[in-house]
Amino acid sequence: MRTQTTKLLSVVLILCLVFSLSACGSTDKTASKSEGTVKEIGVGNGKHGDIKVEVTFADGKITNVDVLEQKENEVLAEPVYTQLKDSVIQANSATVDAISGSTATSKGYLEAIQDAITKSGLTLAAVTAVGSSKSKEETEQTFDVVVIGAGGAGFSSAIEVKKAGASVVILEKMPTVGGNTLISGGEMNAPNTWVQQSLGIKDDTPELFYQDTLKGGDNLGKPEMVKILAEQALASAEWLRDEIKVEFLPDHLFQFGGHSRKRALIPVGHTGAELIKKLKAKTDELQIPVKTSMKAEKLLTDANGRVNAVEATSKDGQKITFHANKGVVIATGGFGSNVEMRKKYNPVLDESYMSTDTPGTTGDGIVMAQEIKAGITNMENIQTYPICNPKTGVISLVADSRFDGAILINQGGQRFVEELERRDVISKAILAQEGKYAYQLWNQRIADIGKTIEAHQDEYDQLVKDGLLYKANTIEEAAEFFKIDPKTLQNTVNKVNAYAKTGKDLDFKHRSGLVSLEQGPYYIQKAVPSVHHTMGGLVIDKDTRVLDESGKIIAGLYAAGEVTGVVHGANRLGGNAIADIITFGRISGQTITK
Ligand code: ADP
Repeated sequence: MRTQTTKLLSVVLILCLVFSLSACGSTDKTASKSEGTVKEIGVGNGKHGDIKVEVTFADGKITNVDVLEQKENEVLAEPVYTQLKDSVIQANSATVDAISGSTATSKGYLEAIQDAITKSGLTLAAVTAVGSSKSKEETEQTFDVVVIGAGGAGFSSAIEVKKAGASVVILEKMPTVGGNTLISGGEMNAPNTWVQQSLGIKDDTPELFYQDTLKGGDNLGKPEMVKILAEQALASAEWLRDEIKVEFLPDHLFQFGGHSRKRALIPVGHTGAELIKKLKAKTDELQIPVKTSMKAEKLLTDANGRVNAVEATSKDGQKITFHANKGVVIATGGFGSNVEMRKKYNPVLDESYMSTDTPGTTGDGIVMAQEIKAGITNMENIQTYPICNPKTGVISLVADSRFDGAILINQGGQRFVEELERRDVISKAILAQEGKYAYQLWNQRIADIGKTIEAHQDEYDQLVKDGLLYKANTIEEAAEFFKIDPKTLQNTVNKVNAYAKTGKDLDFKHRSGLVSLEQGPYYIQKAVPSVHHTMGGLVIDKDTRVLDESGKIIAGLYAAGEVTGVVHGANRLGGNAIADIITFGRISGQTITK
């Protein structure tokens, strides 16, 4: 209160110096401050900490908002600091709708602006609603290729199209690009990479990767598609590194569940943001238009049944037809956020499950393609990710310490599954425990290997704040925090320590060998499974052409990424999504321009 009053007084004083004394003498605050420019700083709480803005007021109106400090996800924050800023200026108010898909950042940003407004002491002039200042879109637009969905698959496809000399547009229904790719851990499997070589892993091959992937999906993936994935993953990784300039950690790999080798490259920052940021930069460099808030609604065909256009709706409700001379690529991702669709194909995964997915993941591409008789497969195979936030359903990236040796225990303080098992197996095992949750336990030694806490400090801080993660000096302290019997937990840890020494996990055969938990401090985190990846989707051939219900090619229609259903079978192995979307995204762009 004191600070606010002082601040207010100083603003008034400054105004007195800047403007005429007679105005300062006025009792009407709006009038007194509306005759010149005032700048005020405000702070709000975003998704990753404070957002600090400087708001400029002139003549009772907000004329500018500059962001001074923030730690938000660059891709998700972009429309907040541009589109939402425009809305605030236009409405002359901080009471405007948040950017969908970036709600937490929007909230913090608007809070900061409101804070500045309050501190300024100004009464802002009411404005009458004005139409969008954005120029209207042409209602008929023509490109060689129309790509639907700005995730990893869509970007990869569009870049290849443009590189081949054809024109291309990307339609994205959300205000932000990136889809699930953006919020994923971003790790990517590939055999024989430069990182494997530098770590001395010399015995990995495309064949081994193929076998792991096929087996990991209970042999329900199409062998010829899995073969392409396994054989081209290295080229895809090199393309990301060399063409797109994605930076991967040079000296660390993850071994996700179901893989017989450590083969997952890790992007810097340990999230898909590195991939999306660089893919978006490449599309900008190539001048590929990306139309956000543009929802594809319908595929149009010519008299011969060839797909030749997409009907879309803009944010303002404008209907636009995007004609495609060469064809359309569906890269709309999965349907993890569509509860009704989940229930239609697998009734178990109803609303009692949260999802790790972005809100745009609603299966639109599958539905649109089905309307023109596209074939679908594996739809009932929906994967839950085992270690997610019990409050939000969001995937825990801090808990990637599991790939460096963290163990899983139940409320009874006992291990119940091999920690590097497949996601579906671990999820099922967790759901079979009392309370349908688990705890992940690791120590500083494990934390120092992958540095997942440093990589995801904001997630860590939030988990601690919510009482879902606790750092303890002793096992006893860790147990007591979550009301686990300390003796049982100590016994479990003693066994783990013994198995770590011999290299033989006699209970669950931990495939990469357990790590000793003798030394603290310890981290213990509560987790639940949450819907993560939909393995089913459109049937495509090896050139990514969409096939109809009878297996015939639908001319002009291509698909790549999570929207397709032929690669992962019953279960997708960790690190295989990025390998899939980049590989087949690129193939779609190359095939369509041949
Ligand atoms: P993938 O990993 O296969 O690339 P992502 O989930 O990363 O999939 O990206 C899919 C993108 O497609 C998301 O950004 C999503 O919002 C977008 N999308 C989904 N449905 C539509 C639609 N009807 N029109 C335009 N974009 C869509």
